[in-house]
Amino acid sequence: MTMLNIVLFGPPGSGKGTQSERLVSKYGLIHLSTGDVFRANIKGETELGLLAKSYMDKGQLVPDEVTINMLRSEVMKHQEPKGFIFDGFPRTNPQAQALDEFLKELNTGIKLMLALEVEESELKERLKKRAEVSGRADDANPEVIANRIRVYNAETAPVKEYYAAQNKLISIDGIGSIDEISQRLFEAIDAH
Ligand code: AMP
Repeated sequence: MTMLNIVLFGPPGSGKGTQSERLVSKYGLIHLSTGDVFRANIKGETELGLLAKSYMDKGQLVPDEVTINMLRSEVMKHQEPKGFIFDGFPRTNPQAQALDEFLKELNTGIKLMLALEVEESELKERLKKRAEVSGRADDANPEVIANRIRVYNAETAPVKEYYAAQNKLISIDGIGSIDEISQRLFEAIDAH
């Protein structure tokens, strides 16, 4: 089975969710956002939601084991998918390793990591604006935003090296119009 599996990577506010929608319509991929799944669980008041909320409200990562098990079961829900866009996952090196392992069980793997690059001052501006429309508690509090960016730099940014070592990392300039950035992503995918 030839699947197109992409990790769409970047700090909070870099445009992963918006650009995922573009990739879904162009390539017919399945969008898997761990943040969206956690938020759906919070809304549904599940046990997983309750647990995730205690971390998300502080801008901390949900523990690897919980996140990996959840993501794995989301992947397994789909029969013969064209491929997945992983948005907000993996966020740690153990998550990246686990993802490789279970894609291998499906006789597939990650084709590319596309990393959106946006500087910190711009991220903070964007998240402040997003707070007005997203209804997300973790967007509304500047301290939580700062913590999410700190956690990204400390724990998540190193995941780039994991994919760089496999020659799968492509950095994408994340500044510009939504269309311009989509175009950059399409070109990177089509060239590989
Ligand atoms: P996001 O919607 O991607 O910004 O994620 C919102 C929050 O959900 C994060 O700040 C984390 O608390 C949690 N979260 C989402 N994805 C992961 C992940 N892969 N690992 C751990 N926590 C995550």
